[in-house]
Amino acid sequence: MTQKLIFIGPQGSGKGTQAKILAEKLSIPHISTGDLLREAKGELKEELDNYMNEGKLVPDKLIIKILKQRIEKPDTDNGFILDGFPRNTAQAKLLEEITKIDNVIEITLSDEEAIKRLSGRVNCENCNANYNELTAPKPKQKGICDKCNGDLIKRNDDTKEAVKKRLEIYKQETQPVLEIYDNLLITINGEQTIQKIATEILERLNIR
Ligand SMILES: [Zn+2]
Repeated sequence: MTQKLIFIGPQGSGKGTQAKILAEKLSIPHISTGDLLREAKGELKEELDNYMNEGKLVPDKLIIKILKQRIEKPDTDNGFILDGFPRNTAQAKLLEEITKIDNVIEITLSDEEAIKRLSGRVNCENCNANYNELTAPKPKQKGICDKCNGDLIKRNDDTKEAVKKRLEIYKQETQPVLEIYDNLLITINGEQTIQKIATEILERLNIR
């Protein structure tokens, strides 16, 4: 039996972390959209570069061609995990044309928790160490790096407003994808420890 899986969840849900853990456990590739685009080869890479260099949005049809090339590699014989794709129903429909998905793992998170996790993120201007002022790891002294006493700064796209906007886009564009996979869907509460979530995913997939 193959495990061709899709991981879906809002930013901050830890879906990337979970996808990585499971991919390692099952020895199948973890294919994130970012990595996928970086790995594009040959003619498809040239086509992709034309869009990227002009700062244009990469069309879904091109992404699906690159994905098709990727999932035809022999390391996907037992399956793969898609992380960050499909992000809308148009992409999900194109995906159906190239492969059959076995299960879709949705990791849920309340807006409140997502905002807390994302908008609390800061990193050291000097040594780049990561902290979270609202969750963990918290710096010992607010705004100052434990390791080097450097100033802790927040990325512009992690402000509360920016995070809210990204969550809104997730709800409007990505959540409708779940309806397409209604009968393959496994929903997991993302407000648990990383270990607990990883265990639950294995249980729900009947993997020992
Ligand atoms: Zn530092």
